[in-house]
Amino acid sequence: MERAGLVLDDETEAFLSFLETEGIVTVSDPLETDQLSAAYMEQYKRQVYFLLDILKSPAKAHEVQKRIFDAHITVFGLGAIGSGILQQLCMMGFRRFTLIDYAEVEENDIARTPYRIAMDVGMPKAEAAKALVEDFAFDPQVEMHNVSLRTDTDLGELVQGTSLIINTTDQPYVGYTNIKLSRYALQHSIPVLAAGGFDAHLASLGELLIPHLTPCADCYATFFHESLKDWKPIPHPVKEREGWFGGLGSLSTFSASTAALDILGYFMNPEDRKAAPGGRGEFLFHDYSLDTFVVERDKECLSCGEGHK
Ligand SMILES: [Zn+2]
Repeated sequence: MERAGLVLDDETEAFLSFLETEGIVTVSDPLETDQLSAAYMEQYKRQVYFLLDILKSPAKAHEVQKRIFDAHITVFGLGAIGSGILQQLCMMGFRRFTLIDYAEVEENDIARTPYRIAMDVGMPKAEAAKALVEDFAFDPQVEMHNVSLRTDTDLGELVQGTSLIINTTDQPYVGYTNIKLSRYALQHSIPVLAAGGFDAHLASLGELLIPHLTPCADCYATFFHESLKDWKPIPHPVKEREGWFGGLGSLSTFSASTAALDILGYFMNPEDRKAAPGGRGEFLFHDYSLDTFVVERDKECLSCGEGHK
């Protein structure tokens, strides 16, 4: 057997093959690929090495990075969590986005988002988010829509050609918008990242909804309807606090980071449910604890159950 001009005996060849299989040695420069440009690979090389550490194969690391380079992500809601996820996806090498939000950047957003107070206040969030992508992404391609997500919104046009939908819209309520997007995405085999929130002094970690692999948004709604039926909120000692919505940048960034990692896990193993099991988590600020719980698919679910494949 000959390698790089050297003749190797069977034993040495077997040993080298073993080292390759274990990812201990590689036969080539892990950054070398004809699939992606040298400039792109140089920019994201720390991530490519990270992927190599986990996947143990330059070819697989390239494949994942190429999938990221080609992906088209649609983001509904560009507030604290949406903009946080967006920034992190750009830092991973994602570059094609459709960005949707109806609101404008306000002064208080500076404490919770990566938007620039001097330049972005008063600007539609979709436009500020486009500027964010242009600052952080390699060869950015962005489409934006300054609209709200309503029950009668035609999703076909907004999510055309998308690889993954991210939902962070909390108006009128994130549970409703998740269900609208999840039902549409189930029919069109598009995964949805239903992002978490950060009210009530906690950071809730969202869930990835992969059609016919994980529970769908209806499964989650049924699960929480059942499990929270005896739950009663504790009244706040300050009365008439409508409109006083608390928020802490570090908590929303925590939610955004876990969502971005969930998305990376999906792009590393799109077919593997284990990479994105059904479930949700909550990080509680007051005692620094992290609770996670598993949500199973509801076999009787009217959207994704056995009879609706
Ligand atoms: Zn379901």
